[in-house]
Amino acid sequence: MGDYLRQFCVFGNPIEHSKSPLLHNFAFSSFSEELSFLGSYGRYLIHSDKKDNNAKLISQAFFELKLSGANITVPFKEIAYEECDEVRGIAKQIGAVNTLVLEKNNDATSLIGYNTDAEGFYETICSYNFKTALIIGAGGSAKAVAYILRQKGMQVAILNRSKDRLEYFIRNDFKCFLYQDFAPEKFDIVINATPAGLKDETLPLPKDLLKRVFLQTKMAYDLVYGVSTPFLNLAKELNITYMDGKNMLIQQAVLAFEYFCNRKIPTSRIGEKMRLALE
Ligand code: NDP
Repeated sequence: MGDYLRQFCVFGNPIEHSKSPLLHNFAFSSFSEELSFLGSYGRYLIHSDKKDNNAKLISQAFFELKLSGANITVPFKEIAYEECDEVRGIAKQIGAVNTLVLEKNNDATSLIGYNTDAEGFYETICSYNFKTALIIGAGGSAKAVAYILRQKGMQVAILNRSKDRLEYFIRNDFKCFLYQDFAPEKFDIVINATPAGLKDETLPLPKDLLKRVFLQTKMAYDLVYGVSTPFLNLAKELNITYMDGKNMLIQQAVLAFEYFCNRKIPTSRIGEKMRLALE
């Protein structure tokens, strides 16, 4: 049987809401005849309080579960980054990993970390040829989006409600603002990288400020998916082109799946199947 049966999962806390098992299992079964293995993908709740100084929270679970690959979600992406044997691509700059792959070389195995959130996001907007972006929020997803946009040559500004998390962006030479020192200007795309509106009716910044930014932008993009947020509702009201986080969710999963199956299936075909899975 060799490693014909391969296990994958997503780690996080909370994790029950994750759509990753749906997307990956649908893709594994759709491509079962083309892949040299049978993949199965689950979800795994990590209890943060399990962490002691010596425990490797993510990599230990990865090996105990005998996984071939995994995705990592909130709040463990930075921890996963620390626990990889090798980090590849833009994940090195972001300092966060959302995809782990077990690589085998003769008898040795290494845990390789990637960040597909960043590239996944970019795939969803690259056809628009934007030059400037405003990111609202300064957490993990803001980092991924900020780095990929800067790498692609865009001017990126970060706006956050409080100072602490902005420090990281200031140290890394991003233009940064707090609400009180922000004067709305023209940005091609305005991105909500906060959970505002996910479980409440809040906007990520005061309405008058957001309205003034929206009136000068070409696109409002909310990373949140699955709910009609006040951020996107305001964009609709003002007749601005908008996108929610569903496309990014799919694209980051497509890129992770490519790593899981060693790039055997073309991206466009994986995307097609994953889109079907969400319908
Ligand atoms: P983090 O918890 O790392 O960061 C949250 C950021 O949002 C912080 O800067 C925080 O500000 C700010 N914030 C939180 N609540 C509010 C609020 N009510 N108003 C204004 N600012 C607020 O989150 P992530 O970066 O990991 O994720 C952000 C969102 O992006 C999540 O909702 C997640 O669902 C979504 N996401 C979607 C993905 C996709 O594939 N579509 C992928 C990854 C994330 P402060 O520093 O002041 O606390």
